[in-house]
Amino acid sequence: MIVGVPKEIKVREYRVGLAPASVRELTARGHSVLVEASAGVGIGVSDADYMQAGAEVVSSAEEVFARSELIVKVKEPQLQECALLRPGQLLFTYLHLAPDPEQAKALMASGATCVAYETVTSATGGLPLLAPMSEVAGRMAIQAGAYFLEKPHGGFGVLLGGVPGVPPAKVVILGGGVVGSHAAMIASGMGAEVWVLDRNVDVLRNLWKQYGTAINTQYATQDAIEQHALDADLVIGGVLVPGASAPKLLSRDLLPKMKRGSVVVDVAIDQGGCFETSRATTHDEPTYEVEGVIHYCVANMPGAVPRTSTFALNNATLPFVLALADQGEAALRHDPHLRNGLNVCRGHITHAGVAGSLAVPF
Ligand code: NAD
Repeated sequence: MIVGVPKEIKVREYRVGLAPASVRELTARGHSVLVEASAGVGIGVSDADYMQAGAEVVSSAEEVFARSELIVKVKEPQLQECALLRPGQLLFTYLHLAPDPEQAKALMASGATCVAYETVTSATGGLPLLAPMSEVAGRMAIQAGAYFLEKPHGGFGVLLGGVPGVPPAKVVILGGGVVGSHAAMIASGMGAEVWVLDRNVDVLRNLWKQYGTAINTQYATQDAIEQHALDADLVIGGVLVPGASAPKLLSRDLLPKMKRGSVVVDVAIDQGGCFETSRATTHDEPTYEVEGVIHYCVANMPGAVPRTSTFALNNATLPFVLALADQGEAALRHDPHLRNGLNVCRGHITHAGVAGSLAVPF
């Protein structure tokens, strides 16, 4: 099969659909890979690296789309990319169609078969192609929090780990899932006093098993959340209720009672945010202040570390890319978890949740 990798064109998106190592796996199985020139420049990967892995580097996105049977991307196709898709062509990428009727219409009009990373499932009930980005965001949340706790960046002026003779900062993590557990690991590694609050006791049990007393756990009643927030230096929002907006766990009223110069990092901002005062920010202007509390609410945190994110994403997508390249659409029939990723097929929305959100027939 001919597999195509266009350069991402969404503003400030540097990740790439296939890393050179993934290209090599495909070419070793007899597939051809077309990579648009300079697709990897933002992650420090050159055209020569792709050629060495067996790819053909082509000069335009038009050529990639025209010659490829399977397109592998990262971000949802922009409208000019949708216009380049054709009936029967396979597209494998993040789509996030539910809030984006314009893109959904364009993909339906293209006649292409579009498989969305975010709805591919795993045998354990997880979302394996979302997890790597949650791992990145969870780890980054502590890095970002530590940075904005520094005085020159507006923070309270505390070092997460303290020093001998000075206590560490208190980090409160709401949600102990993928984001929360990775945030907890980094915060604990930096020597902070870490609290993880979750509504699922099994999640807390697993953290306890893994970290023992290095991480404190508590069931997330509203009372417990508020008590811990009051003396926290850093609060991380990492909750998720699948398919729903994030629950609001910190109200505006509470902020004046929190430490001035404390930091809240709302990772769940892509689901509306779990603090009442959260609004989405960008890497260009990541923070704002409300009642003396610094808010960091960047909706695409992994975009700041595109090199790590590309490789993490490829580790998760590669088995599915290989299956699609080897078997074409038949891969969707053979693997029910990959089939759950099918969002658009030959002009129709084929995912119940997406169809419901867009109010289109399913
Ligand atoms: P997850 O499902 O692995 O974990 C969510 C956890 O939240 C679960 O353990 C759940 O029990 C807990 N939870 C639900 N309601 C709760 C409540 N009221 N109180 C306490 N805990 C509660 O999800 P995840 O992969 O960790 O993702 C978390 C959020 O981060 C999602 O909204 C995801 O989309 C988002 N995310 C954002 C970025 C970004 O760049 N901003 C990147 C990756 C993921």
